[in-house]
Amino acid sequence: MVDISRGSALGISGASELFQLLRDGAPRTRASLAQTTGLARSTIAARVDELMRLGLVTPVADAASTGGRPPSQFALNPAARIVLAADLGASHATIAVTDLSGTVLAERSEPMDIARGPETVLGWMVEAGLALVAELGRDRKELVAIGIGVPGPVEHSTGRPVNPPIMPGWDRFDVPGWVQQHLEVPVLVDNDVNIMALGERALAWPNVEHLVFVKVATGIGSGVISGGLLQRGAQGIAGDIGHVRVARGADVPCHCGNRGCLEALASGPAIARALREQGADVHSGSDVVELVKRGDIDAIQAVRQAGRDIGEVLTACVSLVNPSVIAIGGSMARAGEHLIAGVREVVYTRSMPLATEHLAIVQSAAAENAAVLGASMLAIHHALSPEGIDALAAR
Ligand SMILES: [Zn+2]
Repeated sequence: MVDISRGSALGISGASELFQLLRDGAPRTRASLAQTTGLARSTIAARVDELMRLGLVTPVADAASTGGRPPSQFALNPAARIVLAADLGASHATIAVTDLSGTVLAERSEPMDIARGPETVLGWMVEAGLALVAELGRDRKELVAIGIGVPGPVEHSTGRPVNPPIMPGWDRFDVPGWVQQHLEVPVLVDNDVNIMALGERALAWPNVEHLVFVKVATGIGSGVISGGLLQRGAQGIAGDIGHVRVARGADVPCHCGNRGCLEALASGPAIARALREQGADVHSGSDVVELVKRGDIDAIQAVRQAGRDIGEVLTACVSLVNPSVIAIGGSMARAGEHLIAGVREVVYTRSMPLATEHLAIVQSAAAENAAVLGASMLAIHHALSPEGIDALAAR
């Protein structure tokens, strides 16, 4: 529950706190707001007026109202402002403009090697983002935040990537500081899997409080939402399951320097390598997916075994965080049920019955849109927080 009892009676801080009740988009009357908050009707009226002045809240037509009576219900106006959402992958980059509900208004994608370094990649991102804003006929002053996902660990407090293995030149680069030289808005940075978890939840599981999103692609990682909140841990690396050791791994070397890591056995390139050793002509995870789709038995078995390996690690996750949904995404999830069947086989066998009684293990519904959607959520959550609304009012 939002505590809105604090804050001055007429100041914007009171309005920004009242807004927390309205930001879910459900229409409410002044009377119901007064009842929920215990505040006087006059106080509610003043705060609603302030939010309408900012354009953040709009009257909603009242179905029951007749005879030209003014509308008595109010809700978030998603069109009031816009955010930028960026998904910077290992070899592609996507930038989108969304409204305050996360609806994509315009989007641009390009092949982009993250190893070209932060100034090149972020420079493209800013330029393409502003071009989209202009194409939409919107003013850049309507931008309230930008959310950025990157394919590596991010120190959450500073928005700096830390020792990202596939992002040469990005180590400890001040992403927010650089972007703010070009865009005068808050800059939120997180790793791609965390934002995919936010995107998956927003799209498919808005009422689920405990969700684990697993990305299986060139690498393997997970984003953990517990109690409705993304869990980043002390340094921002919570959920990084790719280098947990699995029993079958034995002496398989991993690029991290250890042996037997999950990523060295069950990632797209690892499955491709295993199939190559059996004589198949496969060079990448997408080759594996193609083979599976054509019904190749060896590829199907290899993918199912990868699912079991992932399931072994997820069994420990299930014991730790007791999620009600595990969503499997990333490019290898396109192999469909075969991967998920392997995960289910192990998790449902090895976990305590109470933990799996209501546990759904499913393919990501947001699929390739998870990251952009999640980046917009990151930006919107910040922009619509009490502090974000106060900052908007002060602009
Ligand atoms: Zn490793």
